[in-house]
This record gives sequence, C-alpha cells and structure tokens, in this order.
Amino acid sequence: MKTIKKSKKFNEFEVLDGMGSLGHEQILFCQDKETGLKAIIAIHDTTLGPALGGTRMWNYENEQDAVRDVLRLSRGMTFKAAISGLSLGGGKAVIIGDSKKDKTERLMRKFGQFVDTLGGKYITAEDVGMTPKDMEYVRMETKHVTGIPQSMGGSGDPSPVTAFGVYVGMKASAKYKWGNDSLKNKIVLVQGVGHVGETLVKYLSDEGANVIINDLDINRLENISKKFNSEIVTGDSIYDLDIDIYAPCALGGTVNPDTINRLKCAIIAGAANNQLENESRDAKLCLEKGICYAPDFLINAGGLINVYSEIHNYDMNHALNQTRKIYDTTLEIFRKAELNNITTNDAALQIANKIVQEKKIS
Ligand code: NAD
Repeated sequence: MKTIKKSKKFNEFEVLDGMGSLGHEQILFCQDKETGLKAIIAIHDTTLGPALGGTRMWNYENEQDAVRDVLRLSRGMTFKAAISGLSLGGGKAVIIGDSKKDKTERLMRKFGQFVDTLGGKYITAEDVGMTPKDMEYVRMETKHVTGIPQSMGGSGDPSPVTAFGVYVGMKASAKYKWGNDSLKNKIVLVQGVGHVGETLVKYLSDEGANVIINDLDINRLENISKKFNSEIVTGDSIYDLDIDIYAPCALGGTVNPDTINRLKCAIIAGAANNQLENESRDAKLCLEKGICYAPDFLINAGGLINVYSEIHNYDMNHALNQTRKIYDTTLEIFRKAELNNITTNDAALQIANKIVQEKKIS
C-alpha cells in the first residue's frame, strides 16, 4: 500500500470546513491494519433517500486529494439523484490504493463490513477501479450494495446504461445548438474508451458520426478502432483538434482554462464525473466561448438509474426508458440557462437543489 507523505495529511478542521461548505452530513474514515484498507465514506445528503454512490479505488497522491475527491463526488451524487427524479441521497466512497496491486478479497470484505456499520444510510456500488466481482465480496458482508453481477440477481455493469444516457444527452445538446439532433457526420472526440466510452463509440458510429478516440491504453484504442473504424489520436494534442463535440469519458478536471482556450468544439458532453476543474469558473468560461456544456451529473446518470432499478426490482428496459428522459431534461436546462443568462451547470444545480429543498420542508 502506498505511503502517504506526512506534510500532505489533512487536518480535522480542513475536513469539517470542507463538509460545512459543501453541506455534508457525515464522513466515516475506515482503517484496517491487517488488510491495509484505508477508505473514506462520505454521506452528503439523505433528504431524498439513502445515500447511494460508487466506491472508487485510486492511488491518490495524498490524503487531502482523497478527501477532496470523496467530498466532491458525494455532493455530485445528491444532485444526480435529485435531477433524475430518484428517491436517493448522495454518497460516495474512496479506497486509497492501487486497484491493480492492493485490492484483495479480504480488503473488499473489510470495506463491506464498514459499509454495513452505516445500517443502510449509505449504499455502495462500482466506480473506477472496481468490478462486479468486488461488489460480490462486499455483498458477503452487507446487503447495502448494488451493481452486483446478474448471476447473483443484480443489475450487473451499469456502464451500457450510462453510455445510453450520455448519448441522448449529447443528441439533446445537438438539437439545442444546431436545431437538429442528428449526429451524422459530426466529429466527436471520445476521450477514454473504457466501459462507458466503448459503448458510446458504438452508438455514435451506428449513427454515422466521425469518431476520434483517445486513451492511455494503446491496446484498447487499437481494438476499438478496429471494431468501429474510428480514428486514433494520442496525447495532449486532442484539445487542438477541429471537432464538433468533445466527450470526456476518462477522469474529471479535463475542462479547465487551458483546455477551454484550446478546444474548438461547440458541445462538451461526456460521462466523466466532475469534468469542470472548477465548477463556477469553468462553466462560465464555456458560456463565454459559446460552448454548450451538458452538465455531467445530469447526462451520466444512466448508471445510477440502473442501480436504482436493481433496488426496486425493475428491469433493464425500465432503466433505459427512465434514462431516455435525460434528453428532455438536458434541453430544459439549456433553455433555462439561456433565459436566465446563467451557466448550464448553475441551471442544473438550481433544479436539483430546489427538489432537495422542497422535500426538506415538506
Ligand atoms: P473505465 O475505467 O472503464 O474507463 C476509463 C478509461 O479512461 C480507461 O480506458 C482509461 O485507460 C482511460 N483513461 C484514464 N485516464 C486517461 C487520460 N488521462 N486520457 C485518456 N484516457 C484515459 O471507466 P468507465 O466506467 O468507463 O467510466 C468513465 C468515466 O465515467 C469515469 O470518470 C467514471 O467516474 C464516469 N462514470 C461512469 C459510470 C459507469 O456507469 N461506469 C457512471 C457515471 C460516471
């Protein structure tokens, strides 16, 4: 397990400040010497229901980064559930470590025991660095887990539904920007062709878009390029390409002053969480440059809708039909933003916040 530099440790006041400014209810710090587990579970808001959000395993540079990530991600889950009309609150967990080297059955089961101590206030699921198998280990220790394999009665990998939501959100963005939602012949850059990115490339290719793909994993790039006849572009030069749509489907923070300045696209619509490095600053920069930014927590909600279906015994078709509604909500947000001269991110946050606040006083 990675050793974390002392100077970069958070202190309790920073954490409480962060919780206060973002509105968190509770944080659980988990540590187990035997398995090497170091995890943080953040519960942002349970007004609408139990806090549901995936577990991310990542080799954070330091503990501060892990705390910041879990605070931001769990807050995003509250808004994602609210704007998607789900009776769920927002939560998220991070495990500090390298998922390729440090993850073991014992570690995942120990993590499951910690989740269980919260008695259902937090429900976990897969996120980056996790597989349905890991959720099986968690399931051995707690029933408060979703996204378990279909063979165990779960809904399995949520990524295909997430990709569908991103696709319809992208089409709605096209409708708003160009008056027509066809993506035929549009040049779309998909950054990150993992679980979600690959299915998104399929939807786009089926519709006749010209897809450019980018990933750190060259084998994946070559496989996907062969399957869908998409062009590969590697490295940082992707931000300088002549494209219509940029779809960030890797990690967050790729939309920032440097990339916004370089991007020549009309639309940003992708799956990655926290795409804006700094929410208010970067949403404003997109607005000023005339780029339609489809809020990530809205258009990547398909996976959450899918795991919500698992809790309520709905089927995949039900999840897809619910996810299809992202199209109308995306249009509603663009129109609200235009009418009020605010960013699309603020428009989406206002709608989500209103739903939570109304429930609080009801
Ligand atoms: P994944 O791990 O399967 O795929 C991510 C891909 O991005 C990998 O192929 C990886 O090599 C690539 N990548 C990582 N860093 C990169 C970089 N700097 N440049 C280019 N490529 C890079 O993850 P996923 O499940 O496809 O999720 C993708 C994103 O969507 C994540 O941010 C995730 O949090 C978000 N998301 C996923 C879901 C879901 O259902 N899986 C739901 C909501 C949000």
